[in-house]
Amino acid sequence: MVDYDLIVIGAGSGGYVTAIRAAQLGASVAVIEKGQVGGTCLTRGCIPTKTMVASARLVEKIDRADQFGVEVEGYKVNYERIIQRKEDIVEELVQGVYFLFKKNGIDLIKGKAILLNNNTVKVNIDNGGLKTGEIVQYKAENIVIATGSKPLLLPEFNYDGINVVSSKEALEFPAIPEKLLIIGAGYIGCEFASIYSALGCKVTVVELMKQILPGEDKGTAKRMERVFADKGVRVITDTKVELVEVLDKIKEPSLQKLEKKPLKDANNVFVHLNDGEVINTEKVLAAVGRIPVSQEIGLKGLGIDIDERGFIMVNDQMETNIPGIYAVGDVTGKVMLAHVASAQGIVAAENIMGNNKEMDYSSIPSVIFTNPELARTGISFSQARKMGYKVKKGRFFYRANGKAKAMGEENGIITLVSDQETGRILGGEVFGVDAANLISEITLAVKNGITAESLSFTIHAHPTLAETIKEAAEDIYGVSIHS
Ligand code: FAD
Repeated sequence: MVDYDLIVIGAGSGGYVTAIRAAQLGASVAVIEKGQVGGTCLTRGCIPTKTMVASARLVEKIDRADQFGVEVEGYKVNYERIIQRKEDIVEELVQGVYFLFKKNGIDLIKGKAILLNNNTVKVNIDNGGLKTGEIVQYKAENIVIATGSKPLLLPEFNYDGINVVSSKEALEFPAIPEKLLIIGAGYIGCEFASIYSALGCKVTVVELMKQILPGEDKGTAKRMERVFADKGVRVITDTKVELVEVLDKIKEPSLQKLEKKPLKDANNVFVHLNDGEVINTEKVLAAVGRIPVSQEIGLKGLGIDIDERGFIMVNDQMETNIPGIYAVGDVTGKVMLAHVASAQGIVAAENIMGNNKEMDYSSIPSVIFTNPELARTGISFSQARKMGYKVKKGRFFYRANGKAKAMGEENGIITLVSDQETGRILGGEVFGVDAANLISEITLAVKNGITAESLSFTIHAHPTLAETIKEAAEDIYGVSIHS
């Protein structure tokens, strides 16, 4: 006798979407969540950062308001209000997930889950109510593990959550730090650099690799470095942080909050670099990667295969090596992004319900929400070459686009990569304002094998930033009108 067709462990972007799709297809579903529903994305990742990005961009826009014929005098950044707005938006979205669970008849069980066997989960109930502390077992035909990931905190960084923080605490410092040093220039590090520099903080970014945004094309990284230089962000690459030293533990954040002002003499953190430089700062944000939440959930006992870093190994149907047990999202380490977690969740749910679906990783968009944004999809020019394609490239600059000019956003470039033989679009990159939205059209083209010619003969509304995509497609054949 089972209690449910499906139990999902974790209510983040992977877990809650799995549960809803399975319920839509007729399954009886329970979700077990030890923290807040919505997981990292809704409560301490995508959404909170993007609310702060919105405030940061507004500050940057006000700073050049006179360019638009608007004179603004004496404005003030209210960090407390920025944080409050973030919390309100998060709360609204979390409530939205509760509503969707209710609407789809999904049971939410609050507590920490441990797998006992391939159809039993033990839960240490933590619902703040009567059953708190009780251990209850639930049985299901299928189980989906969607336990996500957490920040990697190296011991030499001396993380204390106050002076040396992870991305979670960087979402709400007691006040805007005077100086912030960010270790790691991946997308999380770069987004926080963009946010806090706009809010008036002196930001330094230290990256171990030769370029910021490791994994991106060199030229793209250079472009981002120039953007940071313009914002006064100091970028140090090819350098290792050997030790973070907090000289004198300062006051608890609660006390700082009470005082409602930053401590004047708060720059008590010293960051030792491998070239001998020591940088004095107020706060350090460690953003050097994320590790899977795959310990203490019973994987070993069941013999579920994990890789050397602890990520759960899955096939394209999202199945683990144990029949009836699936894994989705960051805990699989495939592509650690919210929309990928959700897509994997849908594939898992469809397979559980007897529909044969597979993950397709060939056209996944990813966005770095700096200002301007950087987005890409499919494969890059160099990846395509390595894969043996005869590649053609088309480019178009924002400065030649009427809408970009009207918006005062001329710093941007779009690149499309196509296969010379078939003409199909293989990938693309947008570096410029609204890249996050523009990348969808290119993703559609990559996913559906659309050719550059077909894209270039698609009529785009004028004046729009999307016209840059059409022009880049034309440029592949050397016939861009405005180049
Ligand atoms: P999570 O969202 O982490 O959810 C896992 C859930 O499982 C958690 O709620 C956890 O409490 C629960 N759980 C864990 N163990 C147990 C247990 N034993 N029992 C019960 N419950 C358990 N991605 C984007 O696509 N776009 C962005 O702009 C973006 N920005 C980000 C910014 C930051 C600062 C960070 C940190 C991440 C960002 N991400 C972004 C990544 C995105 O948040 C993750 O890829 C996504 O949340 C992964 O979803 P998930 O369901 O796999 O895991």
